[in-house]
Amino acid sequence: MSKIMEKIFSVVYAACILMLFYALYQFVSQPKETQFQQPRQKLYYKYVPPNISRSAAEVVWADSSEEIGKLCDIPGAYGCRIKDAEGERIIAPRPRNFNDLPALQTLGHEFLHTLGAQHD
Ligand SMILES: [Zn+2]
Repeated sequence: MSKIMEKIFSVVYAACILMLFYALYQFVSQPKETQFQQPRQKLYYKYVPPNISRSAAEVVWADSSEEIGKLCDIPGAYGCRIKDAEGERIIAPRPRNFNDLPALQTLGHEFLHTLGAQHD
């Protein structure tokens, strides 16, 4: 092999190694979903749509299933809405990022309840 071919080969080889490390970095650093919460699997058949378009609720962020169960007083709950003399509160898992669909699903679900939506 000529010297120039060896040079080209080593540059291409180095580029391949770099691309491999870059792909590995992308995989390791990709956004993660909430570890303790899975997307809701339960199907709701009855749906009463929201009847108002403005609502205010305080969100209480939880960082574990146990915390949600304790705050909602429902073991295994994904989240809940509490309405009492103090006002309205949503207990929801703290999203890890904007791609954290299970956590965002729960937040949206509970917020729909504050707007009057109901399910079975
Ligand atoms: Zn609900």
